[in-house]
Amino acid sequence: MSLETPFDLQQITLRPDELSGRVIGITGPTAGIGRALALECAQRGAEVILLGRNLRKLEAVHAEIEALRRHDGGPVAPPLIAPLDLERAVAGDLDTIAMAIEERWGRLDGLVHNAALLGQLAAIEHYDVPTWVKVMHVNVTAPFALTQVLMPALRASQDASVVCASSSVGRRGRAYWGAYAVSKHALEGMVQVLADELGQTRVRVNSLNPGRTRTAMRRQAYPSEDIGTLPTPESRTAAFIALLGPQSRGVSGRAFDAP
Ligand code: NAP
Repeated sequence: MSLETPFDLQQITLRPDELSGRVIGITGPTAGIGRALALECAQRGAEVILLGRNLRKLEAVHAEIEALRRHDGGPVAPPLIAPLDLERAVAGDLDTIAMAIEERWGRLDGLVHNAALLGQLAAIEHYDVPTWVKVMHVNVTAPFALTQVLMPALRASQDASVVCASSSVGRRGRAYWGAYAVSKHALEGMVQVLADELGQTRVRVNSLNPGRTRTAMRRQAYPSEDIGTLPTPESRTAAFIALLGPQSRGVSGRAFDAP
């Protein structure tokens, strides 16, 4: 008999204020799925922390959020820009972010590891080693280090959720997907280990494969595809919101696919 908390992303109906009062950090909020998610989180009542590497793009998303109204009619909370280059960040950069969150809120209710690099599409036999190291660092090691430094803030929340953006090739490897596929397998491993370690806490950890989506990364992976036929990033946010919001309380250590 399974003791898993019943939870079906297909059955969830989101409320306009689903994330009201929650503080949520998102990596890679400057493009694609992360940008759409940052806007949607703010519209559903969250205070959003924009963790990204490009200040100009971060300021543009900040302005977009400030120009929004919440889905429930209220004003959106101004987001916090937290400069973070996952490739280059050192311990002190992560400490600065943790301290800023601690000072402003004293807790963190949600953390989305969304930013990722595709790297190269090549056979392992020919894969460029420096590219491999970079992809593994941005996609796995940096999310690990960020989670670790933010763990006190996550533990201070009444109901915290960590969500890792995964991929179909992170569940089943495929030829030529190289470091990207291996890094997503590693991220899935981190979800399982961390969820097991945090089993007796109020912090849950899950992975979510958004599925093929109309973004720059998808275009890089499939240059000859008609990207206009694919689902938009905006259509992929609901599953992330469901995993960040109160309806997924108690659900941890699981690997989801966006409906
Ligand atoms: P995207 O459009 O390429 O956006 C990637 C985001 O990651 C950008 O905001 C980018 O920042 C940021 N980023 C990249 N390197 C970074 C670094 N070193 N430091 C900080 N931020 C960095 O990607 P996406 O398609 O939205 O993908 C989002 C997530 O979904 C990824 O984890 C991806 O693996 C997963 N996914 C996507 C698809 C798909 O079809 N699109 C399918 C399955 C899974 P800049 O704006 O500064 O470049």
